[in-house]
Amino acid sequence: MDLRELYQEVILDHGKSPRNHRFPERHNREGRGYNPLCGDKIALRLQLDGDTISDVGFVGQGCAISQASCSTMTEAIKGKTVEEAEALFLRFHAMVMGEDGANDDSDSLGKLVVFAGVREFPMRVKCATLGWHTLNHALHEEGGEAKTE
Ligand code: ZN
Repeated sequence: MDLRELYQEVILDHGKSPRNHRFPERHNREGRGYNPLCGDKIALRLQLDGDTISDVGFVGQGCAISQASCSTMTEAIKGKTVEEAEALFLRFHAMVMGEDGANDDSDSLGKLVVFAGVREFPMRVKCATLGWHTLNHALHEEGGEAKTE
């Protein structure tokens, strides 16, 4: 199966049945994100115990890419430290932006690597990164709403 087929499969699967699609009972961080170009909205809540993201969940509406990306993100960051999650965000961001050398590191991204395909579609990059921007927002306790700009 090539990356394009895998991309279709992950978007369909996670778009239809997003993982961690609920708010955790315990949470001490939250963020909201909005992508005005596509109309995608995400609300993310997470529980930080010390430095570890012990639980995370989201609710949202919007295109399949935004919801699937947020779903795969919650899977990827659950149980990770803040530092690890931020490192993952940087690698993910470099990949979807098509930055030089980003592909060399694709192994460490696991399933997230399927989103490499969005780099050809700048509008879609914003859909794919919305969840991650919202995470960043939640971790740093900024007020208001994360934007994809
Ligand atoms: Zn979208």
